[in-house]
Amino acid sequence: SKPIVAIVGRPNVGKSTLFNLLAGDKISIVKDTPGVTRDRIYAEVNWLDKDFTLIDTGGIEPDSQDIILSQMREQAQIAIDTADVILFITDVRQGLVDSDAKVADLLRRSRKPVLLVVNKVDNFNKFLPDVYEFYNLGIGEPIPISAASRLGIGDMLDEVVKHF
Ligand code: GDP
Ligand code: MG
Repeated sequence: SKPIVAIVGRPNVGKSTLFNLLAGDKISIVKDTPGVTRDRIYAEVNWLDKDFTLIDTGGIEPDSQDIILSQMREQAQIAIDTADVILFITDVRQGLVDSDAKVADLLRRSRKPVLLVVNKVDNFNKFLPDVYEFYNLGIGEPIPISAASRLGIGDMLDEVVKHF
């Protein structure tokens, strides 16, 4: 079967924007239990003659830091359990935050391939210096993208399919 690529990260970093960009109209929603955060959205994606299944693990919108963190842990666990490659999305505008580091710790211990994606780099000249901060997560080289402006997406996908 096809490799599975899971998107994880804090609320509002742009996971769904990236997912929708890559998915086009080939989206299907899989709900386990109403209101439970394990709802997942799948899409079939092709890049450079390679097919993969993309999963957005977004779920409900949490309203407190505790819930955000527990939901991120759950997302990370889904990704660790099911994915061949994990796209860990962060936000250059908000910078590195504590919950990013906590999820990075979980992902690192899984020994699954993790690509550290820094989103909202809408202007590569202006924001690139801020991207280097994300090296401090200790899970590899940050990949700058702008899901909204479609920048860096091809380079990111090149890195994804290298792991298949
Ligand atoms: P999610 O909660 O991680 O799924 O994030 P969303 O995809 O819903 O995006 C959250 C907000 O960030 C929305 O207002 C998006 O329009 C915005 N956003 C997403 N990607 C980008 C980007 O590349 N640049 C900027 N400036 N905003 C973005
Ligand atoms: Mg979302």
